[in-house]
This record gives sequence, C-alpha cells and structure tokens, in this order.
Amino acid sequence: MDISKVLKVWYQKHHRPLPWRKINDPYKIWLSEIILQQTRVEQGLPYYNRFVADYPTVRHLAKAPEQEVMKLWQGLGYYSRARNLHSAAKSIVADYHGVFPNSYESIKSLKGIGDYTAAAIASFAYNLPHAVVDGNVYRVLARLFAISTPIDSTAGKKEFALLAQKLLDKSDPATHNQAIMELGAVVCKPAQPDCENCPLRMHCEAYNKGMVSSFPIKENRVKVTARYFNYLMIRYKDSFYLNHRNGNDIWKNLFDLPMIETKSAIAPELLVKSAGWKDLFGAQTVHIEKVRSFKAHKLSHQHLHTTFYSVTIQKSPTSSVWKKFVKVNSQSIENYPIPKIIEHFFQEESIGYGDVKKS
Ligand code: SF4
Repeated sequence: MDISKVLKVWYQKHHRPLPWRKINDPYKIWLSEIILQQTRVEQGLPYYNRFVADYPTVRHLAKAPEQEVMKLWQGLGYYSRARNLHSAAKSIVADYHGVFPNSYESIKSLKGIGDYTAAAIASFAYNLPHAVVDGNVYRVLARLFAISTPIDSTAGKKEFALLAQKLLDKSDPATHNQAIMELGAVVCKPAQPDCENCPLRMHCEAYNKGMVSSFPIKENRVKVTARYFNYLMIRYKDSFYLNHRNGNDIWKNLFDLPMIETKSAIAPELLVKSAGWKDLFGAQTVHIEKVRSFKAHKLSHQHLHTTFYSVTIQKSPTSSVWKKFVKVNSQSIENYPIPKIIEHFFQEESIGYGDVKKS
C-alpha cells in the first residue's frame, strides 16, 4: 500500500482550511508552528491572527519590545515559546539580514526550534524532504504498525523518525507531512479515534487486532509537583504592586503579584508569622481584607494551589525586597503581561483589568 498516496487523497478532501496552509512564507509557518505547540488550533488561531497583524514580517517582530510580545502571548502559556520566538527573530535579522534561513540545519540552529519544527518549516515553506514527527505522527504510526517501542524512549524516537522518513513522499513532502498530521489531529485522535472513517483502516494493525487503545506506548509518566502560592494584593493608597518574575522559574519575564511560597497549604494566622511575611512587611501594620483560595491551576509539570490575600498598608514600604516590585494602578496594569491565574483573580475581583485598552 502506498500510505502517502492514500493520505494525500484523503487530505485534499478533508483538511481544515487554516490560514497557515497553502502558504509558503517561512515566517508565518514558523509563527503557526510555535503557537500550535501544546495548543489546540481553536485556541491558537486568534493568537496567530494577532501576531501576523501586529508583526507582519520577522523584522517587525524583532523590533518589538519583549514586554509587548509577551503581552500578545498572554493566556497561551508555555511562555518560553514567546521569548524564544522573539530572540530567534532578532537572530534572523542580525545573522541572515532579515531573510528566513532556508536549510534544515540553519532553521534548526534558531532558538526554540527542534527537529519537528525545523522539518515542518523546511517542508512546508521550501518543500525539503524532511519528515515531521510530532505527537500526532507518533500516534498514527504507532497504531498503524502496532509499534510497541515507547515513543518517549531514545530507541522509540529513533525508530519513529526513521519510519516517518521512510514513508515520506519525497516528491511532495509538504502535503505528505500536512496530511499525516491532520489525520492524527482529526481522525486518529488520542481518545476515541474515528477508525470507521479512517482512510488507513484496512491497513491499520492496531485496528485489525482490536488494540487501538493500547497504542502509542509511553515509558515515563510526567512527575507533577504541587506548589503553594500565597499571593498578596497589596494596596497602598490608589496603587498596588506587581512582581516582575525574572528568575529561572515558570512565567519568566511576566508579572504576577508579590507572593510567599510555602511547602504546603498554610492558614492565614500562620502565614502572618512566617519569615516571608516579615521580610515583606517588617513591623508595619497590615490589614487583611479578604482571603480567597482558587482551585488548583494545572501546568504540565506543576499544580499550583493559590490563595490570594487582599491587604492594605499605610506606609510606603522601604525594605530592599520591594525593589523587584512595580507600583501600578488599575489604569496601567493592562500594559503588563500577566499569567492567566492573575488575570483570573483581577477579573473576579473587578480590579480594573480589561477596562483599559492597550496604549
Ligand atoms: S484505523 Fe483508527 S487507529 Fe488506525 S490509523 Fe486509522 S484512526 Fe488510527
């Protein structure tokens, strides 16, 4: 069976009309690929449209201030993608005179671009014969050939990459790659694949053995860490404070609220006696007006348990701890990129966020 031929016939008839299909602008293809990593198409599409509108070329993106790029990314998560995108745009301007590189190796040398993204850009934009292997492709191939090698093992990565490359239609790698990914996205889905309408059904080993749900096989389960964030919405006169996250942790370069992280959930009466509280407030009187806990916020490797303390202080803080905080008011917060969890809190508390348009 010529799998590629079957896939392509199916694809021509059934693919979703998405704006990054049928174009060969490597910049826009790159944007779409980075936005769609770990992100559903429906969620990523408005972000793609906004990025293309605000930064129509790689030069526009390279010139933009990082805070503005992060702001546009707000809500998509995995913020290192936005930082890397911006940094790679600058490299393309500095090292390639603003022209997107056109070989697999040079594309892969850009920040944030791995095997998959390099193969996607090389094939979609330049029709170069590099097979893509993303989560969709792993799933389709694992089921189609009933492959027991775990997809997240070193041996598995090698085996699937070789197989994908072997199946690739070298005369039209762009369509072949799009087709196999699309099949994985809309037919051979992780749960409840639509085998009855799959063009590869007759040839699918997992389907024929009644073992579809057994594939793909994974070696490692992701270890999830629980973290406890006690956020402080500290009001002083008409202002409050944001914390610029510049350490090597989640949400790098975004802004959240001053926070005391504890090893487990902690009662308010114990938090006010903690070292973190004393570092922040010293001996000054702090009025706690409200305490609210939200249900755990789930990231890929971390579950964040958050409690928000709305407090007021009477004196302007002076200790060095406060140097990393930015004093804002409800009119200015719209300019700061913030994680979803903080946006959610501001919305719940009707704290100005969203009332003011980006300047
Ligand atoms: S028959 Fe089912 S399991 Fe096999 S490739 Fe098609 S959708 Fe996937």
